[in-house]
Amino acid sequence: MRLPRWRPVWWRPRVQCLLCGAMADQADLPLCPGCDDDLPWLAGHCAICALPLPVAGLTCGQCLHRAPAFHRVETPLRYGFPVDALITRFKHQSSAPFGRLLAQLLARHLRHAFDERLERPDVLIPVPLSRQRERLRGFNQAALLAGWLADPLGLPVDNRLLRRVQDTPAQQGLDAATRKRNLRHAFAVADGAQVEGRHLALVDDVLTTGATAQFIARALHKAGARRVDVYCLARTPAPE
Ligand SMILES: [Zn+2]
Ligand SMILES: [Zn+2]
Repeated sequence: MRLPRWRPVWWRPRVQCLLCGAMADQADLPLCPGCDDDLPWLAGHCAICALPLPVAGLTCGQCLHRAPAFHRVETPLRYGFPVDALITRFKHQSSAPFGRLLAQLLARHLRHAFDERLERPDVLIPVPLSRQRERLRGFNQAALLAGWLADPLGLPVDNRLLRRVQDTPAQQGLDAATRKRNLRHAFAVADGAQVEGRHLALVDDVLTTGATAQFIARALHKAGARRVDVYCLARTPAPE
């Protein structure tokens, strides 16, 4: 007969904060309370595209002028220090622990939003990377993020529903008009994909102009999607 392993009542696994090395107070989240407080949490923001705004509960000028094809953007953070550095390390130096930490924060945000009656989607759809870029990088960061969200949110991921039709040049550093031109025909809904009447949630790392999300959402609606939301780690503020 094996006796159960004895542990004192105060026992719990100790986890170090990924940002400063101090002890975290939750066994499943490598972030200490101090660093948690210091993160650039998104305060006031556009009710549709999550653009940081000085006041809560407003809609930004661009969304008022023309409502985007996606229903709403959900994100916990503003794209600023140190989140920008963490995302860069995750994407460009393949540092999965930073990506996973940020995904945990997004999952926490979404669980809270679902409790506050945000409609749960049917499925998570990572934004596909061009094949060339995925080969270079070795992974698609959006697919990793969606995988890390699936379990805590209890949602399935569909990696095949969307595909990249054209290899678009890297979008970083391009102006909005050029980005749009490049994206117009970049994504397609896979043949036979189940889209009709469904609520889909796109997953990506950062929402900048929203052009990518806009084109994908439009393609999904054309294929019969009922609603498209966007879940991302962080939202960039308006350009200066
Ligand atoms: Zn810390
Ligand atoms: Zn907006």
